[in-house]
Amino acid sequence: MISMTNADFEVGIIGGGPGGAATAGYLAKAGIPCVVFERELFPRPHIGESFVPATTRVFRDLDFIDEMEKAGFPKKFGAVWTANSKAPTYSHDWDELPAGDFADIRFEEREQEGVDRRYTYHVDRGKFDLLFLQHAHKLGAAVYEGVKVTSVDLNAEPYPRLYFKMGSKEMFVTVKMVVDASGRDTLLGNQLRIKIKDPVFNQFAFHTWFEGYERLDPRYPDKADYIFIHFLPMTNSWIWQIPITDTITSIGIVTQRQHFPKTREDREKWFWDCIMTRPDVYERLRKSERVRPFKEEGDYSYAMKQVAGDRWALVGDAGRFVDPIFSSGVSIALNGARLATADIIRAAEIGDYRRPSFETFERTLRWGTRNWYDFITMYYRLNVLFTMFIQDPRYRIDVLKLLQGDVYDEETPEVLRKMKDIVTSVEQNPNHVWHKLLGDLTCTAFKPSF
Ligand SMILES: Cc1cc2nc3c(=O)[nH]c(=O)nc-3n(C[C@H](O)[C@H](O)[C@H](O)COP(=O)(O)OP(=O)(O)OC[C@H]3O[C@@H](n4cnc5c(N)ncnc54)[C@H](O)[C@@H]3O)c2cc1C
Repeated sequence: MISMTNADFEVGIIGGGPGGAATAGYLAKAGIPCVVFERELFPRPHIGESFVPATTRVFRDLDFIDEMEKAGFPKKFGAVWTANSKAPTYSHDWDELPAGDFADIRFEEREQEGVDRRYTYHVDRGKFDLLFLQHAHKLGAAVYEGVKVTSVDLNAEPYPRLYFKMGSKEMFVTVKMVVDASGRDTLLGNQLRIKIKDPVFNQFAFHTWFEGYERLDPRYPDKADYIFIHFLPMTNSWIWQIPITDTITSIGIVTQRQHFPKTREDREKWFWDCIMTRPDVYERLRKSERVRPFKEEGDYSYAMKQVAGDRWALVGDAGRFVDPIFSSGVSIALNGARLATADIIRAAEIGDYRRPSFETFERTLRWGTRNWYDFITMYYRLNVLFTMFIQDPRYRIDVLKLLQGDVYDEETPEVLRKMKDIVTSVEQNPNHVWHKLLGDLTCTAFKPSF
């Protein structure tokens, strides 16, 4: 029997994005009184529009999968990575590959626990986040939009406090446990000074939506609604192409800081210059119409020294952010919520919210995010290896497992171990045929300590 006492709420959640809404959904479903404070009034635009299948498990747990179907989001059956070896400036390492200029995967090639369909979704985050937060409310969570949490006092007696402003008046609620799901604002991580910036992945992204972009490419006739990653002839830089509706497509460029123009005025021109290096994309994009202002996201990879402590836990981007090349963010937020709430529900039962109660969450999340991080690092370090593994029947299914977001059950998957060994041997052997293809992001520069 859970003893729910005189704090205003058992759990206070900062942020109503996917991480906060999923946390609220799981807790409400378990009968634990919780409150979400969301700074914005939904719907609001947000980055992070393409999911991986590991999200499905959470949607099913929370009885939300039918709503996903009803909402009519484009179905995502797989992913395609393309390069254009015919472009004059092009010098991508894929030139080494016999199979030409693209690689692709289909999610249905591998069964996944808790996932009962061959596809996942691409979403308009404005619409998705609204529906998902409303769903948490329907499950019983209290939700306040337009309320920005300004600080957290974890040491207040008898219970921690979440402070916020109503008009000019500062107010607070008392809670027994705080979940920070404030995204890249990392409210609690900043306050506790536990954030470590990633010295390697300091990417910038510049993105918008286009109406009428012809997604159907005759070279890949059955893949119009896949996510496409189009490589640019510039190190560590790529274009995403994500279906948002039947006619709207999200297009963004991710690059390293040194390639990103300093001034806002230069960025739009830079966007088009980059797109022109991929004539196949440019030809279709120039015939379509931009329907949103350009937006940028900058300098965004970091970890936290710990993701839980006495009476607090960090879920989603509030706890860690890694490069979005494999569309991992929302899946990590949702599965982080799944893992954190399993521990929080047990902690509520025994009335003990000290850090050891969240040990399983911390350990499992550490495995998952480290696996993602290592996979991404090796991808950038030796891109040809990723492509080779995907095309090699010995490794394809194991790589697909990672791409499905199925990363939480093993400390280090065997396929990652194998990739690491190969990268190390290529690094150590200047005569190796791949040595000249090594990227400039090194594997060992960033070791999160939680
Ligand atoms: C360039 C780029 C591309 C990406 N592409 C993908 C992709 O294709 N697929 C994918 O899965 N992920 C992608 N991501 C990552 C994805 O955006 C995030 O991982 C995901 O949104 C994390 O969810 P969250 O709930 O943790 O945080 P968020 O979605 O950021 O939600 C946090 C919420 O907290 C609210 N908030 C913040 N501060 C406060 C406060 N003080 N008080 C109250 N509320 C507050 C915010 O308003 C927001 O609504 C991408 C990210 C970037 C930068």
